[in-house]
Amino acid sequence: MSKVIVLDPGHGGSDPGAVGHGLREKDLTLNIVKRIGAMLKNYEGVKVIYTRTDDRFIDLSERAAIANKAKADFFLSVHINASGSGKGTGFETFIYNGNVSSATIAYQNVIHAEIVKAIGNVRDRGKKRANFAVLRQTNMPALLTENLFIDNPSDAAKLKTEQFLQQVAYGHVIGLEKAFGLKKKGVKDDVTGHWAEQSIRKAMKAGIIRGHSDGRYGPDEPVTRAQLAVILERLGLLKD
Ligand SMILES: [Zn+2]
Repeated sequence: MSKVIVLDPGHGGSDPGAVGHGLREKDLTLNIVKRIGAMLKNYEGVKVIYTRTDDRFIDLSERAAIANKAKADFFLSVHINASGSGKGTGFETFIYNGNVSSATIAYQNVIHAEIVKAIGNVRDRGKKRANFAVLRQTNMPALLTENLFIDNPSDAAKLKTEQFLQQVAYGHVIGLEKAFGLKKKGVKDDVTGHWAEQSIRKAMKAGIIRGHSDGRYGPDEPVTRAQLAVILERLGLLKD
């Protein structure tokens, strides 16, 4: 049960997209998409396909064709907004304004909500529908996100920080996780097959010594003096 997700960084090459305050939409969209792709590596059964991974022009029909050819489960296009006046602000998402599946609407609902949560104090402009080529020409559920306004001074200040771009990406990833029921890759079991496996399992079962919070046990790591004191306490060897 693997999911094919196409990540589409808006614009590129000769098409910078919107520009403002020293920023270009094409750079920000690629930055965010690369972060999304890197985080998706932590999930089981996700195949990511990019419409571009560098600064090149790809026309809209070709972007949709990449997703259609791959029989993708989802198409996610990342953009930055601009209003012209410099006064527009906030976050919004789009699905196609023609016939869409109920899944498309459900995915917009959950992914939109998770991005809003992740980006903090940003105006939520709402879940919208539009006749955008990449939404119309893709055969699978498709979503386009508009992540703040490049020509708005306070939005641009946010878009200039790596921290904020990471929050934007994180929101997309948690949204995808919830929309598709993605599961994080399990941490490697480092006890199975160890020469002391039986004793380790008994010690864990008895609650004498536990593994790390990330699920590793670390069978060959040394015990600190503090851990030793706790172990002696758990064994009932210490008097009050
Ligand atoms: Zn755009």
